Amino acid sequence: IQSKLPGVSTTIFSVMSKLAAEYNAINLSQGFPDYPSDPKLTELVNKAMKDGFNQYAPMPGNTLLKETIAEKVEKCYNIKYNPDTEITVTTGGTQAIFTALAAIINPGDEVIIFEPAYDCYAPTIKLFGGLVKTYQLAPPNYSIDWDMVKKLFTSSTRMIILNSPQNPTGSILSDDDMKSLIKLINGTDILILSDEVYEHLIYDEQQHRSVMLYPELKERSFIVASFGKLLHATGWKLGYCLAPEQLTKEFRKVHQFNVFSVNSPMQQAIAEYIKNTDNYIGITNFFETKRNYFRGLLADTRFELLPCNGSYFQCASYSKISDEKDVDFSIRLIKEFGVATIPVSAFYQKANDHKIIRLCFAKENSTLALAAEKLRNV
Ligand code: PMP
Ligand code: GLN
Repeated sequence: IQSKLPGVSTTIFSVMSKLAAEYNAINLSQGFPDYPSDPKLTELVNKAMKDGFNQYAPMPGNTLLKETIAEKVEKCYNIKYNPDTEITVTTGGTQAIFTALAAIINPGDEVIIFEPAYDCYAPTIKLFGGLVKTYQLAPPNYSIDWDMVKKLFTSSTRMIILNSPQNPTGSILSDDDMKSLIKLINGTDILILSDEVYEHLIYDEQQHRSVMLYPELKERSFIVASFGKLLHATGWKLGYCLAPEQLTKEFRKVHQFNVFSVNSPMQQAIAEYIKNTDNYIGITNFFETKRNYFRGLLADTRFELLPCNGSYFQCASYSKISDEKDVDFSIRLIKEFGVATIPVSAFYQKANDHKIIRLCFAKENSTLALAAEKLRNV
């Protein structure tokens, strides 16, 4: 069979989590918490099932959940999205990204991404015949020179994918970045896919600069969010997409034939959990404390820590430790030292030798302490 994605194999997250299990290593690779989510959530799923939420949810999402999302967004950003026409509930952020690209990208369309980039962007663009144009972010700060981004523009540029806070680098976009972007796209019909799944994981009192805060960006943006991150429940695979009515119409044309609608009792449970509560507000402090704790633990290892302004990932250079390529080094870390991480070269389409690994700190403090003890031997 002729593959539609010839360069693609099993994702690095599956590979490293499997190896971690095989070698009984502490798994700081794939991004997911190792502590339980709020038991209230489980109770609310049971309640929703008992209450009869067991058949198809409405195609664009459970009505109460869409209203609740609109209220949450307004509370956090003071911006209104219409639950009927601008909010669609999805099977996690991944499906929202896939569906937005499927709805927009035609063969030959160019999409700009910033590398290192979350791994699903490039293959999904290519699946629909799009061409990936890459801006290379440079460690340690991974900042963007927008004049250089402009050099990537052609008459075929259809979309720019943003991801702030960024996976894997933990870098964030500033108000200045957003203003530069506005200048750049002014007068073009370039659309934006803004992956904001780590919107609340932003530290040191910095503010998340959602594209929705800028009318010139909001009107052309799909914004992707994930309840997996918000509720410490990545396995629930629920999220949503915010977009102006015209974009949402196109999004839903694909969504209805891709999944039609998503898990009904869990949508109801999330709606009841989030409605009228601030259950999720503590998440910023929770993860900032973990970041500080983890960075403190790693301070007396030979790893050099890169800045972490957001997300639940800490990147570290091992160039003082080894000359190995990051994939080889990560596999050796699992086998010899019992800690699983992600080689950051996996977030690039072309291999590189930056010697940086990503460690997930969405873990119990005891897990982080144990991992650090092992990393001190490296
Ligand atoms: N975007 C980024 C940047 C992510 O890290 C992830 C996964 N954690 C997703 C999208 C996908 O989110 P979900 O698990 O809700 O599909
Ligand atoms: N987003 C998670 C990470 O970056 C993984 C999600 C997945 O395994 N697809 O680790």
